[in-house]
Amino acid sequence: MHRERVSENVFWFQSEVYAQVTAGVVVGPQWAVVIDTLALPDETLSIREFIEHELSVPVRYVINTHYHADHTWGNCFFPGATVVAHANCRKLLEEYGMPSFEAAKKQNLALRQVKIVLPQMTFIDGDMTLRVGKKNLILSSAFGHSNDGISVLVEEDRILFAGDSFLPVPHVVDGDVDDNIASIKQIAKLGLENIVQGHGDIILRGEIDAAVKENVNYLNAIKKSVRGISKRKNASELLEDIKIENCGKSRVYLGGLAETLHQSNLKSLLYKMAQ
Ligand SMILES: [Zn+2]
Repeated sequence: MHRERVSENVFWFQSEVYAQVTAGVVVGPQWAVVIDTLALPDETLSIREFIEHELSVPVRYVINTHYHADHTWGNCFFPGATVVAHANCRKLLEEYGMPSFEAAKKQNLALRQVKIVLPQMTFIDGDMTLRVGKKNLILSSAFGHSNDGISVLVEEDRILFAGDSFLPVPHVVDGDVDDNIASIKQIAKLGLENIVQGHGDIILRGEIDAAVKENVNYLNAIKKSVRGISKRKNASELLEDIKIENCGKSRVYLGGLAETLHQSNLKSLLYKMAQ
C-alpha cells in the first residue's frame, strides 16, 4: 500500500493489490476520520495501524463515498467508529452489498474476517459538515458512478476526496452518465488544490482543468458513439469497434483496466438506450 501526506493532517492511501483504489485520513488532536476503506482486510488494517500507532489517535468516523465493496467492506475494522454516508448508500449496501458479500465470502478466504457494517449516520439533501481539529469536512452528493456517491471537501486545504465520481476513466455502469457529467462540472467549480480520485493518483492543481475536460469529453464521446450505432441490428457487436482512444482516453490507465471499464460503459449505455 502506498501512503502519502497530502497536507497537514491529511493522508492518502492507495492499494497495491486492487485497482489502485484509494482511501484518506484526516486527523485532529483527539481522533481521526477515515474516508473509505480499502478492498482487502490487510490493507485496511494497516491504515488503522498507522492511525493508532503513528498518529496515536482512535478513529471516530468512517465516511463511505459510496456502497461498492472496494470502499466499504473495511468498515468493520473500525469497531468504535460511526459510519457516515448518503442515505442511498445504506440502502444499496443492504440490498446489494450484503448478498454479494455472502457470495464473495465463499470464494475468498481473506473475507472471512469481514462483516458488512451499514452506515449509522446518513444524509439525503444538501451538505453535511464534520469538524475535525481545525478543518471542516464538507460532505456533498456526487452521483454518476453510483446513485449514492458523495465527495468530501477538506475546506481549508481545498482538497476534494471525490470518491468514484472522479476517475482516470469514468465508470457509469451502476450510475448515470449525465449525473456523472454534472458531478464533474460541479467539482470543476470548487477551486481545488487536489482531487483525490477513488482510484488512481492524486490530481494536482495544475492538472485539474485538463482532467475535468478529458473526463467530460470522454463521457460525451461514449454517449455520442453509442447513440450512433444504437439503432443498428448488430449494435452490440459494433461496440468493440469503439476504442477507448477514439473517446479521448488512454488504455494505460489503472494498470490496464481502462479498456475493460470502457467496454462495460459502452455496453451499459447501449442497454439503457434500448430501454
Ligand atoms: Zn471503486
